[in-house]
Amino acid sequence: MENCLFCKIVAGEIPSNKVYEDELVLAFRDIAPQAPTHILVIPKAHIGSVAQITPENSGIVAHIFQVIAKVAEAEGLQNGYRVVSNCGDDAGQTVHHLHFHILGGKKLALEMA
Ligand code: AMP
Repeated sequence: MENCLFCKIVAGEIPSNKVYEDELVLAFRDIAPQAPTHILVIPKAHIGSVAQITPENSGIVAHIFQVIAKVAEAEGLQNGYRVVSNCGDDAGQTVHHLHFHILGGKKLALEMA
């Protein structure tokens, strides 16, 4: 997708601090970490947000969650972590390519809104 920051990261046009990659998924460190460990997991194919998940593309989401579990274990997050996906303006989504934040490495605040 043209002018999509995360598509450019997938294409290697913008550098990223990669922690995991396979044919479908990329995981890399967030450039502005909100926790000691802050990783983004994205599908390589462009999906705009959670709102664009359909029966046709939802298999990738199941795969992403397997990757999340694997990455979290490799990062030593055995004590727990949070998985967040901001969807749309009210949630503060800034990059319109589906992504899941993995946040951990400390006791996280509980408020969600
Ligand atoms: P969201 O606000 O949920 O759309 O999350 C977008 C995330 O992408 C933010 O946490 C940003 O810090 C992060 N981000 C933006 N540009 C980059 C980049 N070039 N490399 C890594 N993370 C980025």
